This record gives sequence, C-alpha cells and structure tokens, in this order.
Amino acid sequence: MSDLLSKAPQPTATRVEGFLGDRELQWGKHKKIKVGKVFRNFHCKPCDDQRTFESGDELYCLGLDKHAVSIDATLRCTACQSSVAAWFLIASKDEISGFAPEVRIERYTENLRDRAERIGKDPGQFADLIKRAQVAYDAELGAGATVYLRWILESITYHVANIAGIPTTGKNNGRVPFRDLLERVNEERRIIPQRFSSNGYKLFGELSEIIHGNSTEEEALKKFEPCLQLVLGIVEEVNRDNVFAKAIDELGWGSANIDEIAGDAS
Ligand SMILES: [Zn+2]
Repeated sequence: MSDLLSKAPQPTATRVEGFLGDRELQWGKHKKIKVGKVFRNFHCKPCDDQRTFESGDELYCLGLDKHAVSIDATLRCTACQSSVAAWFLIASKDEISGFAPEVRIERYTENLRDRAERIGKDPGQFADLIKRAQVAYDAELGAGATVYLRWILESITYHVANIAGIPTTGKNNGRVPFRDLLERVNEERRIIPQRFSSNGYKLFGELSEIIHGNSTEEEALKKFEPCLQLVLGIVEEVNRDNVFAKAIDELGWGSANIDEIAGDAS
C-alpha cells in the first residue's frame, strides 16, 4: 500500500495487503493504519534541493463506504523537517476492508504549503492526461480523446527539443511546424519507438486530422487505440532517455562533452 501511495497518481489498480484488519471502516469513522511509510520526492524550498519527504509510521484513514476510504498523510523533508500534506482517495471494486483488496487511487492531491515544489516533469502529469484521454474515449468522445493524446505528444516533443537544444522557432521567431519539429527531434533523439518507425508520422497526421475536424467521431474512436499506443511508446522512449540524460547531468557533463566522449570511444 505505501508503494502505491508513494507513486500517486498512478491510475492502475494494484492488489495490496489488507489494511483495515478485515473490518469495515464505517462512514465517518477514523482509523490509524500501519501500511509502511509513504515517500515522495519534492524540491524542498528551505533546503533548495531535491529531497525525499516521508510520512510517519501511521496514516489516518477515514471511512466513506464499503468500497472507498480517504487517507491523510503529512510528509516531512528528511533533511530540514519542513512538512507538507497529501490526501488520497482509495477505491476498490470488492470490499476495501478485505484480506487483499485490489485498490486504485481515485484522487490524489497535495498541498505543498509553499515549502516545496514538484520536481521538473512529473510523469504523473502524463498519467493524468492519459487518464483523461481514456475517460473521453470511454464516453465515446473520439475527437476529445484525441486532443489529449496530441497534447501529450506536443509537450513531450517540445520538452525533448529544449533539452537537446533543438530550435523550436524558425524564421522571424515563428514556431517550427510541429511535424517538422517532431521529425527533427526524432532524428536526433529517436523518440518514436522502432515499431512505429514506418507509420509514426502517419499516425501523428491522423491525430491532427481528427483534431481539425476532418474525420468523423466514429473514425476518431477507431483510430484512438493505435494513436494511444504511439503516444505511450514515445513517452516510454523519452522517459528512458531522460533518466540517462539526468544521470549524465548529475555527473556534471554537458551535452557537448558527451559528444566528445562518445567520439573518443569510437
Ligand atoms: Zn528540506
């Protein structure tokens, strides 16, 4: 359970060890639970550095109904003890008080109280947009679902372009057309997964067509799944690259040096 909470907002359901001692936590009733500490990384303002914030050993649980509880946690910077607040709404299909309920985080919010900030690009942001796309798709809103996919694709491509120093503006400071930028970023950083290499741009073109209303809702719904797979594949690819880039940054190597080192090695 503490793992799941530490990774919020994660939309997938996870089976956890029973945490309510097999007894229903009735509406409005409180219970202290011991599910291990919750850890989250933030940029701590007093420390002016990235720090892990941890909860105490016990968390507070409030009963809603047979299938949902709310959990409150206060987290402290492990270095300077600055505290922030986090709140989770946890739901399950089966009874949540069961022996090993499958639970998911229905809602997560945090109040960082001006003591801390979220770190850089939060992968949860993408998880949230993916969830929105999925909700729109489930409601059969094809164009709506597609807007979120394109939004993710564009923000991640601009993000990579900025890291890689690929210009996003062209003549007269105008924005480079997105398709051109995508091609340029892909040439340098290979963000389109191999399995889409032949039709990645075509799928992107279809995303655009749908958003610009050149396609029916029915077509949009049909194309949602392959477009979603493309976008997820790109996010995955970039996450891999980001981890690499971050590790190298921490070693104090600029990207120019990386090229040199790579050149020397070959
Ligand atoms: Zn601190």
